[in-house]
Amino acid sequence: MGRAFLLLLILASSAAAQQADLVLQNGVIYTGARALGRVEALAIQGERIVAAGTRKQIQRWIGPKTRILDLQGRFVMPGFNDAHVHLGGAGRGKLTVDLTGARSLAEMQERIRARLPEFAPGQWIVGRGWDHSLWPEPRIPTRPDLDAVSTKHPMLFERVDGHSSVANSLALTIAGITRDTPDPEGGDIVRDAQGEPTGWLKERAEGLVARHIPEPTPEERKRGLELSLREAAQNGVTSLQDNSAWEDFLALQELKKEGKLTARITEWLPFNAPLETLKARREQGGTTDPWLKTGALKGVTDGSGGSHSAAMLEPFADEPHNRGILLYEPEQLKQMVIERDAAGFQITLHAIGDRAVRVALDAFAAARAANPSRRDARHKIEHAQFVHPDDARRFGALRVIASMQPSHILNDMRWAPALLGPARRREAYPWKTLQKDSPVLAFGTDYPVELINPFRGLYAAVTREFEDGGPVGGWVPEEKISLEDALRAYTQGSATAEFEDHRKGTLRPGMFADFIVLSHDLTQLQPRELLRVQVLMTVVGGKVVFDRLQSQPATREGSRD
Ligand SMILES: [Zn+2]
Repeated sequence: MGRAFLLLLILASSAAAQQADLVLQNGVIYTGARALGRVEALAIQGERIVAAGTRKQIQRWIGPKTRILDLQGRFVMPGFNDAHVHLGGAGRGKLTVDLTGARSLAEMQERIRARLPEFAPGQWIVGRGWDHSLWPEPRIPTRPDLDAVSTKHPMLFERVDGHSSVANSLALTIAGITRDTPDPEGGDIVRDAQGEPTGWLKERAEGLVARHIPEPTPEERKRGLELSLREAAQNGVTSLQDNSAWEDFLALQELKKEGKLTARITEWLPFNAPLETLKARREQGGTTDPWLKTGALKGVTDGSGGSHSAAMLEPFADEPHNRGILLYEPEQLKQMVIERDAAGFQITLHAIGDRAVRVALDAFAAARAANPSRRDARHKIEHAQFVHPDDARRFGALRVIASMQPSHILNDMRWAPALLGPARRREAYPWKTLQKDSPVLAFGTDYPVELINPFRGLYAAVTREFEDGGPVGGWVPEEKISLEDALRAYTQGSATAEFEDHRKGTLRPGMFADFIVLSHDLTQLQPRELLRVQVLMTVVGGKVVFDRLQSQPATREGSRD
């Protein structure tokens, strides 16, 4: 082969390499990178962004095979990275029937009937949330009411309060419950005038049936996970830090093989598992694949605020004898953290009450002292809902990341002020303080505890008001943060929390092409309007995973209602 020919070949291939697969034009592209600010256009090659700039600067990346997306002035930003979700739980919830808010027995039956095609005969159909007190004829549903929907599927539906359930005849048969079955200790098999079970099972009687419901099959896990992933994509979430069962991780591996992953996932492992198991799973699940890998060890150190089980330094203001529940003996927690830290694991501890937060920080401090050669461990505290002012500073000193879920406040404001009392109000959901004092603030939702919709979180972070407004000016307004800071926490902050900030969280050359197109320019909105923002397109690694842009009229953003 002649030298000149070879040279030509090299030139040709480098010219081809300069051609983008996808170019975004005419956008308002919020890169999240301080040096870049906003740009009009992006060029993407494969999974990554190769150039960002004006339309003119990007023009040279356009070749015959380049797909051009004309944004028509729409707003683009890095995809959201939800730093705390439970995908497996969310998925299983999607496979059950949600009866919450059904306004009549007929509506309850209709909701179940509508889902029948998803279930093969003999397969269990379960669900929860019915409340007969909302119905025109407020009577408890019975076995015949459910048999009218299906006699071929065993069914069990829990009441909204979680204290009783109604089963159909097939479910009772499978459980062997007849008129002769005695009531279990602490439970009632409700019977009609003839002594036949009505299907209503109170308290521990529910368990007689529930124990026959099989664990989800791998197929069911996959189906549920796919539904949750779809919901994430629709909401502009391109990365997830997930706390699910190992079986769910295996199902996610399958989905990845089938090309069905629509978000990048870092899976947490259970902190309490034996160290050898954890090492084996880290080995098996890997730690580097940007689509699916294992990450932090998740431990739970206390309960929750809503149930008054968060571990507090002083009693709850509204329960003066209760300081909540600490789930570890502090010395034991220290030893476990030291051991797992030494084995190279990142550790993330659920801590809601101010005592739990202190105990968690103490454990991380002990690990730093015991394993001085360990650098950049990026240990985290999940929730950190009530933080004593003395401890806020320690986040920075110990390099502990605060992983918080601002949308929790939208519900918790109903009871949290009374729980804390006026003297501790500054401890509540201290986003501003921790943004200042911790090395990194990461945002998420705890989905499905909260909706995965990130705009609720942004709204909560900048207003500290209920979704329908108030309290005026926000609760503990000193702890509001700016929209830019909230966006950073939800993109770069979350990426840092999973050791991915070198390739995720901003839209600049070299980073993954994980971005979303929105109905509005977030930075031009009144805070209330954040709740109306729609995701029009979600792209992960240059691949469109959700698209409602095609159906949108070609108006500029912000003009829609
Ligand atoms: Zn959680």
